[in-house]
Amino acid sequence: MRKSLGQNLLIDNNICQKIAEAAVSCYELPIIEIGPGLGALTTLLARMAKQIIAIELDKNMARLLSDKILKPQGLSNVLILNQDCMDFDFSAYYRHTGKKLQIVGNLPYYISSHLLVKILDNAPYIKSATIMLQKEVAIRLTAKTGSKDYSRLSVLSQARARVHTVCRVSPTCFHPPPKIWSQVIHMDLTKPALPDIDDFDFFKKIVRAGFGQRRKTLLNSLSSGLKIKREQMTIEIQKANLSENIRAEALELEDFARLYKTLLLYKTFIET
Ligand code: SAM
Repeated sequence: MRKSLGQNLLIDNNICQKIAEAAVSCYELPIIEIGPGLGALTTLLARMAKQIIAIELDKNMARLLSDKILKPQGLSNVLILNQDCMDFDFSAYYRHTGKKLQIVGNLPYYISSHLLVKILDNAPYIKSATIMLQKEVAIRLTAKTGSKDYSRLSVLSQARARVHTVCRVSPTCFHPPPKIWSQVIHMDLTKPALPDIDDFDFFKKIVRAGFGQRRKTLLNSLSSGLKIKREQMTIEIQKANLSENIRAEALELEDFARLYKTLLLYKTFIET
């Protein structure tokens, strides 16, 4: 087992079943499985959906999965791609097939935040994402305004998707067992809370600047993060109907949306 690739394989059938059921809401739409390993989820998914694309970075695992697990069971609807999931082009796949993706994965934790952002960036091409995350990251995704876990990732994911927890997963459900608890979350990307954010890259910049210095006020973190003069930023924050002394963790999603609309004027000047 390659520890560096986060190879903690699921050995609990009940959890596998719950993940697969949450992941497949439409038989016809393709499933992208990230990091199939030795197929604990893949074999279930292949019986529930028409086509599975399984992206596995480890060459040996990809070969074992194909030769020793899928072929003997006659599961011919799984295409294994031996590559890094970060290089998969979701938008090209959508343009090519016209079909939105259902993503599923028991992710290696070292890439979970990056992959989450990639999923959110590609929201228009994705129907849903059902993913196992380390508990702390999963809690951030569902955290509400004002809680200690409310963060950049909470705002970005809830802006783009309806997020809910599928189940909590104990270390004993894996081999080898990780040191921490995990949690499976489901993101429905067809139900964004903020559907009018057309320029998600710009929205990300604002949210990142807002949470950049958690102890600072919104005014201080936005003006230093976006490099806009304090006097000017004070006016813009007021235009968005917010107090400049508030902190980012106290902002509702709609508050971020108003800030985004107000600050759109500055888009071409902001390079961060
Ligand atoms: N899905 C399997 C299961 O639940 O038993 C395996 C899960 S294991 C936590 C993560 C898997 O992702 C491993 O098979 C690992 O080789 C693969 N992996 C790690 N980094 C990857 C990457 N960047 N792209 C694709 N697969 C990756």
